[in-house]
Amino acid sequence: MSKFLKVILKNLIKGPSTIKYPFEDSPAPEKLRGKIVHNADACVACHLCEYVCAGGAIKMQESEDKKGIDFVVWHDTCTFCGLCEYYCPTKAIHLTNDYHTAHLQADKYNYVEKTFVKKQPCTCCGEPIVPISLAMVEQIYGKEGDIRGLSKMCPQCRRKILWKGGVSKL
Ligand code: SF4
Ligand code: SF4
Repeated sequence: MSKFLKVILKNLIKGPSTIKYPFEDSPAPEKLRGKIVHNADACVACHLCEYVCAGGAIKMQESEDKKGIDFVVWHDTCTFCGLCEYYCPTKAIHLTNDYHTAHLQADKYNYVEKTFVKKQPCTCCGEPIVPISLAMVEQIYGKEGDIRGLSKMCPQCRRKILWKGGVSKL
């Protein structure tokens, strides 16, 4: 048997070495920068990700009923730079290793992730606000005293409380 036929026979027995993508999924490295995911429950609507976004892929605006923030990520505009994930103070936005981002041009306006960051009433005055995380409260006001209550207050009430004598009055 010729060398050539031997190679053919060997490969036929061994089977294909490649993956039959797109008929079966192909593995992606864990650290691959792929599709963005946003966790609205952890988001404090600080706008940092929107500000640093290199591709202008993140848009945040108050919802029409004023009950929260509409958060939109345009997947086809994202450049996978990772700046949003890097700067997010609450780890609410991150890149996954999902690389399945190909889509038809006609679908580009539907290829978005939409989430809703719900507002809650300020525990002091009742004004609807997005509570800030405890980690952010600690960064702004330090760790002295019972600062937990500050996270559910609007900025004005936080200021008033601090003017009146600090977090010990909470
Ligand atoms: S990875 Fe970069 S381009 Fe994509 S949404 Fe985040 S900041 Fe914007
Ligand atoms: S940086 Fe993080 S917490 Fe701030 S708006 Fe973006 S996702 Fe939300």
